Amino acid sequence: ENWEPLIGNVEFEHVDFYYNEGEYILQDFNLKVKKGQTIALVGETGSGKSTIVNLACRFYEPTGGRILIDGKDYKERSQNWLHANIGYVLQSPHLFSGSIKENIRYGKLDASDEEIIEAAKIVNAHEFISKLEKGYDTEVGEGGGMLSTGEKQLISFARAIISKPKIFFLDEATSSIDTETEAKIQYAIDNVLEDRTSFIIAHRLSTIRSADVILVIEKGKVIEQGNHHEL
Ligand code: ATP
Ligand code: MG
Repeated sequence: ENWEPLIGNVEFEHVDFYYNEGEYILQDFNLKVKKGQTIALVGETGSGKSTIVNLACRFYEPTGGRILIDGKDYKERSQNWLHANIGYVLQSPHLFSGSIKENIRYGKLDASDEEIIEAAKIVNAHEFISKLEKGYDTEVGEGGGMLSTGEKQLISFARAIISKPKIFFLDEATSSIDTETEAKIQYAIDNVLEDRTSFIIAHRLSTIRSADVILVIEKGKVIEQGNHHEL
């Protein structure tokens, strides 16, 4: 396998997609993100924002068209390569059965305990983890068990921090998150976005405004595009 270093250009080229045969969510969707750029996706609920992120992370594949990373169809890359180069925090964050430590380490399998704690500190997750009786060794159970959505997102951020991906996708949770966790997530976002190609679906106007390009999505199509001065 060719482990050529990733540059970080991402392109959706005439992408079609449906979950149920023929019920198109995206049709001829086109998008170009250059290395280091931050793209914010905004649009009403059900417009297709998470679908775009899930395709970009390859949880699903286009039913038509292609998604290219540095000019090459991502289907030609191995899952391991994608895993090593792409970080994500999803709307419904998934944790694996195992400890919190193992869940963070999933971002970089040879990470030391110190690296894991350091990553958790950067995203402000260390505090709540330390308060748990078993701390980093707390078993979260399939799907994350007793942790809140916000806490699961923070663990996902820590995972993304240690893997240092060139490409990062963020689909902020919409479910109720308390203000304290919300502030921590904001802090994590500011730390993670630096210097990466990022797709973000965020709630805070300030996060969206700082994006290089804002795409307004409606029914799976880009209906407006520009930075916050232009829109
Ligand atoms: P929100 O702002 O609520 O998160 P969204 O813009 O992220 O919405 P998507 O989750 O991408 O929207 O959903 C786009 C469309 O695809 C919706 O009509 C939704 O019902 C449908 N959809 C999403 N996930 C699935 C799925 N797993 N199976 C079938 N349909 C789905
Ligand atoms: Mg969504």
